[in-house]
Amino acid sequence: MTKKTVSAASLAAQAMGWIDPVTRAVVPPIHMASTYLRDEDNGYSSGRIYARADNPTFDQAEATLTALEGGAKSLIFSSGMSAATACFLALAPGDHVVVPKVMYWSLRNWLATFATSWGLKVEFVDADRTDAIAAAVKKGVTKLVWLETPANPTWALSDIAAAAEIAHKAGALLGVDSTVATPVLTRPIEHGADIVMHSATKYLNGHSDIIAGALVGARDDDHWMKLRAIRAQLGTILGQTEAWLLMRGMRTLYPRVAWACRSAQSLAEKFAAHPMIEEVLYPGLPSFAGHAVARKQMTNGFGGMLSVRIKGGERAAVATAARVELWKRATSLGGVESLIEHRASIEGPGTPCPPDLLRLSVGVEESADLFEDLDQALKRAHNA
Ligand SMILES: *Cc1c(COP(=O)(O)O)cnc(C)c1O
Repeated sequence: MTKKTVSAASLAAQAMGWIDPVTRAVVPPIHMASTYLRDEDNGYSSGRIYARADNPTFDQAEATLTALEGGAKSLIFSSGMSAATACFLALAPGDHVVVPKVMYWSLRNWLATFATSWGLKVEFVDADRTDAIAAAVKKGVTKLVWLETPANPTWALSDIAAAAEIAHKAGALLGVDSTVATPVLTRPIEHGADIVMHSATKYLNGHSDIIAGALVGARDDDHWMKLRAIRAQLGTILGQTEAWLLMRGMRTLYPRVAWACRSAQSLAEKFAAHPMIEEVLYPGLPSFAGHAVARKQMTNGFGGMLSVRIKGGERAAVATAARVELWKRATSLGGVESLIEHRASIEGPGTPCPPDLLRLSVGVEESADLFEDLDQALKRAHNA
């Protein structure tokens, strides 16, 4: 079997097939060392100096993610936020960036506050409209276009290939937060992205037990060296044990995501016909605004995330979330346990999220159980 014939799912399952050369262990050790021995000639022939720059426990997770995304290099970070903000900190004050109006709420806040006061010119656009991106990008001035697709919590789609063309013509880079799509469903570099970002806290790890982030670069160039330097200088590295847990979680990425997609598609279709639900937001529904773009750049399914807008507004939405038993009321997404969340109340004033919206992260429980639980909660909330 030549390497070319091995699918990404198989590479992930075996963490690239790595075997410890000394012990023949099929699972790697956790390297705890913070520092490495210098050679007698004062050099570092191991390539390792100090563990704020990197750690051997990162290698397997980074190499695997690079292969899954079809990139040149990866870096794992202490959180999704530290991975995302590194992309903006690699720019200079005065640089112009184009970012989505609907995106992960904490990153949006950071861009509107810290990044702006640090000197970046941040322009928020309707990133589900290619013409809005084109109108905002300025040749020679815009340095980074940022997308999140599907975007939290409306799951609006952005056309990666179209945005890449606009960004590159203007001399800007394209970064894509692909946390929700995962490399199972979308490989942004194939569509022209320069940087792919993940909150590895979510699907890549998949078990709601670490906070982690990752960047994948399309090229190992000067810009990539800058991102690597930012991680080493700020020390936004992942702990060794967390890096090990991330690799352990990534081994089951493909079956977990495939299961969640099937389940989410079935739930979306059933809830779309539910008398107490106003609207279902899910890229896999033909009636969804972003469905055509989703079909173009998503394969293997449309993701494990959907939102439902509850008839009766905010009160009915909160009352429904209060009455679920199997779904867990908690923030975050992409874990094996299904989560439900009233997003508007966590995002606070200024949120573009509708008040009647409940965000659903579909895990790997039986889909029929998840339907029945939310159905009984909707009925009990309605009759309360
Ligand atoms: C969770 C999340 C982030 C932030 O990641 P953390 O690991 O929580 O820092 C960024 N983008 C998206 C889409 C997310 O869901």
